[in-house]
Amino acid sequence: MTKSKILFEKAKQIIPGGVNSPVRAFGSVNMDPIFINSAKRSYIYDVDGNKYIDYISSWGPMIFGHCDEKLNEVATNALKNGLSYGVPSEVEVEMAEILVSAYKGCEMVRMVNSGTEATMSAIRVARGYTGRDKIIKFEGCYHGHSDCLLVKSGSGTLTFNVPSSLGVPAGTVKDTIVCEYNNINSVKEAIEKNKGEIACIIIEPVPGNMGVVAPNIEFMSELRKVTEENNIILIYDEVITGFRLSFGGAAEILGIVPDMVCFGKIIGGGLPVGAYGGKKEIMSVVSPVGNVYQAGTLSGNPLAMEVGIAVLNRLKNNPQIYDDLESKAKKLEDGFNANIEAIGTKAVVSRFKSMISIFFTKRDIEYYSDVMTSDTAMYAKYFQGMLNRGILLPPAQYEAMFMNSSLTDENIEYTIKSNLEALKEI
Ligand SMILES: *Cc1c(COP(=O)(O)O)cnc(C)c1O
Repeated sequence: MTKSKILFEKAKQIIPGGVNSPVRAFGSVNMDPIFINSAKRSYIYDVDGNKYIDYISSWGPMIFGHCDEKLNEVATNALKNGLSYGVPSEVEVEMAEILVSAYKGCEMVRMVNSGTEATMSAIRVARGYTGRDKIIKFEGCYHGHSDCLLVKSGSGTLTFNVPSSLGVPAGTVKDTIVCEYNNINSVKEAIEKNKGEIACIIIEPVPGNMGVVAPNIEFMSELRKVTEENNIILIYDEVITGFRLSFGGAAEILGIVPDMVCFGKIIGGGLPVGAYGGKKEIMSVVSPVGNVYQAGTLSGNPLAMEVGIAVLNRLKNNPQIYDDLESKAKKLEDGFNANIEAIGTKAVVSRFKSMISIFFTKRDIEYYSDVMTSDTAMYAKYFQGMLNRGILLPPAQYEAMFMNSSLTDENIEYTIKSNLEALKEI
């Protein structure tokens, strides 16, 4: 029995499903999980001594790859000043300055401890500011696991075929309206039916949590228009896309600026961090200035701020990283497409900038309904084939591959070669 298997058996007795986040159980790729004990640059190592090229990158935060020497030094130095104070510190101001200067439309920002907290708080602020209860989200978009957003929410919930969750009272989601991503008519109809009642629309500007779906630019600009016309707050959930697509996030790439934004993942560099921000007028309803309550014992934690600041400054000073990440993703796309054509596999590659995923369908990927035609059993076999060749992909169809700047040309070439072999085996 492998060490991973032994650990998993033990874990299952004392942790639900043996894991602290459902996708880690590898259930949707029909196998037991591998347990990791270290990672370095583009590689991740399991407890049985196997080495893998890592395309999860901790679901985004490790944008420079793992165990970076410089970031380790920053973290080690930060430790010497103490781990948490519970009263304000300079690094919190520094972090806020970076976020505000990086992101158009983010004039004020509040730090929290996860993406879930960021979106949950942003929704509360939008409701408090507008005095309205209803919100719109999109099918297949995931915004963390707070109650009112846990409806048709992508990723883990798609993977496990749970459209929502037990334990979420009907009353909590009765004000959540679900529309179709890339379909502006679905939004216009919802607004028409609920005139003057909608506080906000929250969206992954480039969805990663149903696999990658490229935004239709017309849809996004119409969305901005109808929200403005109806005084609805537009919230971009940039927990994945923020500082990944570009330093100014999807808003910069699309040239369409929201009223509020949520960050997570990259801005903590691997530590538990989130943030939400927006126009000064809107953010001024947050306690203690205004009457929307939101707080956090460890929010703005000095260790997390130091590491996050170092990550963001490095991205700012090395903007070529974004072209580099995209060119890596483009190479994979071209290589995978050539392989798919050579073998005649029923598969398509969906890419937007550096975000990429592969779907086992012949449909072009534009809508959630296209995504849902993917053959997840084929993905499971593909995943296993790649893992056997030393490549760790997201262990679920409805996720994006996360590129990091440590991936070498050899890594990419080897991945393309392995893709050909794995596709042949399906
Ligand atoms: C990961 C993610 C979240 C949730 O962040 P957590 O830190 O896991 O709570 C929210 N929104 C999007 C788009 C995400 O990808």
